[in-house]
Amino acid sequence: MLPYKSQKCRLTSKYGYRTHPIRGWRHFHGGVDLVGVGSDEVIAVTSGIVVQSRIVTDKTNSTWEWGEYIAVSGSDGKIIYYCHLKKRLVNVGTAVKAGDVIGIQGSTGQSTGPHLHFEVRKGTKQISAAEYLGIPNEAGTYDGVLVAIDKLSKAGVVNTPEYWYKHYTDVQYLDLLLARSANCIKKVGAPCATLDEALAKLVKRGIINTPEYWQKNAGRVQYLPELICKLGGCV
Ligand SMILES: [Zn+2]
Repeated sequence: MLPYKSQKCRLTSKYGYRTHPIRGWRHFHGGVDLVGVGSDEVIAVTSGIVVQSRIVTDKTNSTWEWGEYIAVSGSDGKIIYYCHLKKRLVNVGTAVKAGDVIGIQGSTGQSTGPHLHFEVRKGTKQISAAEYLGIPNEAGTYDGVLVAIDKLSKAGVVNTPEYWYKHYTDVQYLDLLLARSANCIKKVGAPCATLDEALAKLVKRGIINTPEYWQKNAGRVQYLPELICKLGGCV
């Protein structure tokens, strides 16, 4: 899941060594810089507990560079930092679900324009934020739906990448699954009366796996809510 409600964003500065955009020297960039496309609402990419929600104004503490920021201790044991926000919408101690809007993208702290510095740490060690998000660590525009489908394809939950290359218009049926999965009113294609009906249709068309597959791999049904969440955060 990408950290924007629209699930679309540009990566403008990668994780790793780079020339500092303001100071000009070479340094290690501990996260990725992202700019939302079609949305400046920042969402939690994993469920967890908010452990920091603040701004540091003391410039002897280098954390001031992050401006208004939020840290979420994820259920996966990692800590995710969302920085340079215009607005923080959650407080310390809040339990957040993946997909919840937690802030608004901004340019607070040391920043040259509205963007999100997104950083992931395991303990105190920074890890590749791009890898964590499932996108290449290079400048480009990324779509969380395609990232999710790729991940689910690899997990064998939905069809293979080859299938999606040939039948990419079928992605509408995944939207249909989303639309019918909760109280979401997104209208895509012919409506199905119930979630069961939508699932049956998806199975029948081979978009997600067969009933036999689900009987053998019942545990993998866990990936479907994740898919739904990634498709639009509407659960
Ligand atoms: Zn950054």
